[in-house]
Amino acid sequence: MVMPDQFAPALAYLDSIDPATEELIGRFEVTPAEELPRRLEHARRAQREWAALPVAERAKRLEALAGVFERRRREIAEVVTRENGKPLAEALFSDVLVSLDSIRWHARYAARILGEERVRHHNPIFKGKRARLVSEPYGIVAVIAPWNYPIAIPVTAAVPALAAGNAVIIKPSELVPWCGALLGELFDQAGLPVDMVQVIQGPGALGQALIEARPDKVVFTGSVASGQKVAEACGRRLIPSVLELGGKDAMIVLADADLEVASSGAVWGSCTNCGQACLSVERVYVEPGALERFTQLCVEKTKQLRLGPGLDPNVDVGPLIRRRQIERVERQLEDATRRGARILCGGRRRPDCGPLFFEPTVVSGVDSSMLLMQEETFGPVLAIQGVADGEEAVRLANESLFGLGASVWTRDRARGEAIARQLRSGSVMVNDVMSCYGITEAPHGGRAASGWGRTHSRFGLLEMAQVKYVASDLFPRGKKPWWFPYDAGVIELADGVFQALFGAKPAARWRGVRNAWCHYRERPH
Ligand code: NDP
Repeated sequence: MVMPDQFAPALAYLDSIDPATEELIGRFEVTPAEELPRRLEHARRAQREWAALPVAERAKRLEALAGVFERRRREIAEVVTRENGKPLAEALFSDVLVSLDSIRWHARYAARILGEERVRHHNPIFKGKRARLVSEPYGIVAVIAPWNYPIAIPVTAAVPALAAGNAVIIKPSELVPWCGALLGELFDQAGLPVDMVQVIQGPGALGQALIEARPDKVVFTGSVASGQKVAEACGRRLIPSVLELGGKDAMIVLADADLEVASSGAVWGSCTNCGQACLSVERVYVEPGALERFTQLCVEKTKQLRLGPGLDPNVDVGPLIRRRQIERVERQLEDATRRGARILCGGRRRPDCGPLFFEPTVVSGVDSSMLLMQEETFGPVLAIQGVADGEEAVRLANESLFGLGASVWTRDRARGEAIARQLRSGSVMVNDVMSCYGITEAPHGGRAASGWGRTHSRFGLLEMAQVKYVASDLFPRGKKPWWFPYDAGVIELADGVFQALFGAKPAARWRGVRNAWCHYRERPH
């Protein structure tokens, strides 16, 4: 397994920090930006051979990758926990299992989804063609990934790209270089052709340099601020992109919800990964009949959460990733309380657990004027707002700049689904939260400030392929009647065609066919 080099000099290295202790646990070499052209050249060479394989053969190779993940699952999860801080159970479920499921799904279904499709032309003019839709890879897909799901996010972006015949260059976050190095090793071990998946390590500027080196597609997951820079850099070079950006997910609790279940969902949804998930529950809107009891249950359950280092199996919530993350949470809480919100539990740092621990927090009396309800929090905070009814909840939920995920909690499934349809977001779960990320069939992605394009599911796979229309003429010796030279006869012919195709009555359509045929015969063939 990749081990961090504990004693390497600092300059061209990224530090791997254990957020549970803030101790240096390793150093990993930075990839010099000057190396990128050579890296891309090698990727292109490897990609040509890979793309020439039938999809079914590529899918078979992915099975080998699944085997590697399955065998090394515990070790992968431990590296994620050491470097990202999340409890081991979360690393197993949300990083390893999600990755493995995605790999298996693509190995099984990619050939079917990307297979050639015969086109049946509806217009009789084109019945004399045999046509197919053919999927082709882009070439090199750059995957720029964040630190919060340091294995699942790059893997679920890279695997469809590979299945579709692309080479992949992954730029992990500089905060998780150990996970990055491990990723490179896992792909290598799967026996994929050399250079098909390359991991480059470095800061955000290296991500920028990667785009400047002109890959053929970019899949970026990260903050809105970086996403804007990525979109700009891609736009300037006309490189197509998928942007998976931040979220401010709303949870709507209707009066008839099972509050015992909904409160557990809310506490988990706001505190899993220490609240540092794009699909975290960040805003809760509760109907009057449920507000008091729901809030009380959330407070009770939040107080029971156990903080500590993620490798301890009896820990629920780990540390935040860095100090700036804690400062962001504190700034939002301070703004909220100044405007009248009440912290019902938590709200403080926990230096007794470690320098980056923050108590899981429940806040009530919030409203849309507060930063806590506007900006992404990315910390273990549950903000609860009472609303008059479901309609107001929908209106407030849709006020956000973001539109990634949402959830609705009710015993009335029909009402829950009706509300789900009114929410402006990429996904909505009724009586569950966040698990859509682990459901490979569920497209993942957002609207508005949450980005564009989709990962996961067949839509994510199709994002990685370009569709080409290939048509053959069954009568190659005939010239087309709409070619040069033009004369009055062509206009009559066009008129006949219009009548034949769109005439209101059968008699008019027949007349059109006759006219068109007469004028067609007079055209040069
Ligand atoms: P960042 O935007 O800081 O970083 C994301 C990645 O982009 C990192 O690899 C980063 O490198 C790199 N990067 C930074 N600047 C640039 C640039 N100008 N050009 C190219 N690459 C760049 O996000 P975080 O890592 O802090 O992740 C947290 C954010 O990600 C949250 O907003 C969260 O909601 C969002 N996210 C969205 C998800 C989704 O699916 N919609 C899923 C998970 C997270 P480096 O870290 O080395 O600076």
